[in-house]
Amino acid sequence: PAEAGKSRGGKSSAPAPITITHPERIVYPGEGITKQDIVDYYTAVMKWFLPGVIDRPMSVIRWPGGINKPSFFQKHIPAGGLKQVGSARLKEETGASAVYLYPVDADSIIELVQYNAIEFHPWGAHVDKPDCADRVVFDLDPGPDVEWTRVKAAARLMYKLLEQLGLQSFLRATGGKGLHVVVPLKPAAPWDEVKEFARSFAEVLESMYPLEFVSVSSKAKRAGRIYVDYLRNGRGATAVASYSLRGRPGAPVAMPLRWSELGRLKSASQFDMRSALARLKRQRADPWEGIDKIKQSLKAVKKALSAK
Ligand code: ATP
Ligand code: MN
Ligand code: MN
Repeated sequence: PAEAGKSRGGKSSAPAPITITHPERIVYPGEGITKQDIVDYYTAVMKWFLPGVIDRPMSVIRWPGGINKPSFFQKHIPAGGLKQVGSARLKEETGASAVYLYPVDADSIIELVQYNAIEFHPWGAHVDKPDCADRVVFDLDPGPDVEWTRVKAAARLMYKLLEQLGLQSFLRATGGKGLHVVVPLKPAAPWDEVKEFARSFAEVLESMYPLEFVSVSSKAKRAGRIYVDYLRNGRGATAVASYSLRGRPGAPVAMPLRWSELGRLKSASQFDMRSALARLKRQRADPWEGIDKIKQSLKAVKKALSAK
């Protein structure tokens, strides 16, 4: 896939070493984590991290002054360009077009880290098919007073309901406050169909369990409930990548999990840079192994519903 990316993108095929400037600079003051530590982290997890981001248009969040200073959400290639990162002109919601960045290989990631990126947020689509989603992301955002056991029960319920609809799903602890439940689609489906499905699924959850779920973002309604943010499923929307560091105190990591691990999960930010590295050293297979091979579509859902 990297070769295809290089030929499509703005990247030349000549390998160029990436010079890390200011490797000693402290990025996470609380932990004393330096820019070089971040390079080393992504290098160590690269074989697990890359499959989830390669050839997907992507936003990065950069913290040039460390995580206690302002951050910059960046989806376009900056003026002056990036040598190791793919670029693709895609149309925007507004009808205009802009040049989006996407990683084509490990060098792309390291160059983005050199550029002070900490968090990586890919689209649920590939750059050669930006109008179709191959991943539906249900972003579970618990209100401030929702106990963790309820969040886990909500995710488990979603797993079961999706399974009844004929859809396999995958679990991620975000490294923040909530969970992501991810449904792969093969073949990829047009964004409007995907968003429509995500919206109706969120509304069904809310109507079945009104004390647990809410499908609208209004602050008042979210109190004491879990917001199912289905709006993560529009063209151009992103979700944090598995194994991405988060630019928050403690250096948490977004971790893909097996459903069998949900019961033991202590919080959405259970994994940090150090424990993620320890886990991945022992990891033999990705918890999401096979996700891109699963052939399932929203047609299966329609079939399941019409069979009733
Ligand atoms: P948490 O578990 O704390 O909610 P999260 O990664 O799910 O962590 P959210 O704020 O729920 O964080 O956002 C979900 C996803 O939506 C993010 O991972 C990010 O990719 C995207 N996102 C969030 N805020 C913005 C924004 N202002 N503009 C564009 N995309 C955003
Ligand atoms: Mn969230
Ligand atoms: Mn959200």
